[in-house]
Order: sequence, then structure tokens, then C-alpha cells
Amino acid sequence: MAWFKKTRKPIEPTGEKPSRVPEGLWVKCPGCTQIIYNKDLDKNQQVCPKCAHHFRISATDRLRALFDDGDWTEHFKTLTSNDPLRFTDTKPYRQRLKDTISKTGMKDAVIIATGTLDGLAVVVAAMEYAFIGGSMGVVVGEKITRAIERAMDLRCPIVIVCCSGGARMMEGALSLMQMAKISGALARLDRARLPYIAVLTDPTTGGVTASFAMLGDLNIAEPKAQIGFAGPRVIEQTIRQKLPEGFQRSEFLIEKGMLDLVVDRREMKAVIASGLRFMGAKGTSPASVPAATEPEAATEPATQS
Ligand SMILES: [Zn+2]
Repeated sequence: MAWFKKTRKPIEPTGEKPSRVPEGLWVKCPGCTQIIYNKDLDKNQQVCPKCAHHFRISATDRLRALFDDGDWTEHFKTLTSNDPLRFTDTKPYRQRLKDTISKTGMKDAVIIATGTLDGLAVVVAAMEYAFIGGSMGVVVGEKITRAIERAMDLRCPIVIVCCSGGARMMEGALSLMQMAKISGALARLDRARLPYIAVLTDPTTGGVTASFAMLGDLNIAEPKAQIGFAGPRVIEQTIRQKLPEGFQRSEFLIEKGMLDLVVDRREMKAVIASGLRFMGAKGTSPASVPAATEPEAATEPATQS
């Protein structure tokens, strides 16, 4: 019965020809599917020149975009997590930390920096998504809290750039406690009458949204950033309803009154600067602040000790 037998051998798939284009020169934009030259993207702060899709950027690039002349001083650089729960999922947390530290060159998922932003002395905390999803563990909590306290010492505003999947589950309840700790520090900042601007980038979710990301005197988001508490799939399963189009995106949230502004990354620095000026920030460098004539700044260390 030759009918049911293949007499001819099927054509074997040939191995794909190696591309002659060197890798990393071009990227395909997920927004408009156009091919963009990488250098054009670099010049444009990683925003698609054709459709303004915002690519995710690292904490370092973020600081470079915000500080004058791309110049800043980093603080609390050496803090690391010591795996308090001895947690293991697909691999031990201790190992995961070690791998991520060697991959990213950072000790945890946030950089705290001081410098000037359009001539204004500021403290900036920028979160790094490449470090375990920008998750907030004890180190992120401690560093952000210290950053807020540093802002109070210097009598200058703070800007926190959020980019996070939420609390770090490998640190369990200890990571959840950071929400209260940072919120408490922000309340003290508020009592000290110093401004705080939250910048929400894609993604800002979980415990970060549920605490400091939404507590800014101004909450500014980047276009089309995903911002929410629980993910859309979990919500759909819980409420058994289809979610509306564009749910948990910046544009949806501003319509519902959850945000103050949606700002293009290329205008972010100017908007933050004018926001801070509106809230009374003065153009001084951090170095000159202790010598400032403002009586509060001079007496503060004395009253604390
Ligand atoms: Zn595009």
C-alpha cells in the first residue's frame, strides 16, 4: 500500500542564514512596528521618533536625563539585602541576588542621588527594573527613607522615579513594612513643608503604587505607562468582568482623577522644574545649603541632637 507511505523524503528545513546586520543597531518599535536606528533612539531619550512610544530606560539613564550636565552624587550605594527569610523559589534568593548584582552592577533596585535639576538642588531616587523587577525589599525601603531624610536635612525637594513590579516577595512581610515606613517618612517631609514629586513610569504596580508612588504633591506619569495595584488578569478573575480598553494605563487613570499629569519623557525635566518652582523650591546647590541663611536649616541639627 504505497499510497499511505511517503515515497519521497520531505524537504529538510535548512538552518536560517545568519543575518548580515550586526545585532543591536536597529530595534523594532512595539508601538508602530517601525524599525528605528538605535542611535536615533539614544538621542531621543529612548522615545520612538515616529510614534512617541516610550521604551523602558535604566535608573542611570533616568538620572542622566534629569540632572544638569548628567552630573550627580550617589548615596547609600553599599546597602545590600542579607536574605532575612532564607527564601528559596526556583532558586535560592541569596543566589538570585548575587546573579543580579553581577549582571546589573547595582546592589539593589534603587539609586539615590543628589545634584541640581535646572539649577534646583534636589534629591532623586530612581528605581531600576532590571534588578528583580524593580521590586521593593528592605534595601529599597531603607534607601528611599534615607533619601527623604536627606532631603529634609538639606531642605530641598525630592523626586522619586517609580519603576517597579511591587513589593519583593522573597522578603515577605518585611518588604510590605517598607510601604508604611516610606509613607511615614513622606508625612514628616510634608510637615517640614518640602515638595515631593512622584514620577510613575511603566510599570508602577503593587506595593509601590499602594504607597509612595501615589503620595506625591504632584503625581506625574509617562504616556501609556501601566500603573495599578493588582494585575488586570487577577482583577478579571476576581470580579468576573471584562475590563475596559486601556485599563491601568496613564491616560485612563488621568481621566479617572488618579494622576495630575501625563508628560512626555522629553519634557519631563522642564515640567518637574516648573512644578518644584511653583511649590517654592529655590535654586541652590546641595553643597551651599548648610550655609544658607534660612533659620530652619541652621537650627535643625541642633534641635535634633
Ligand atoms: Zn514607534
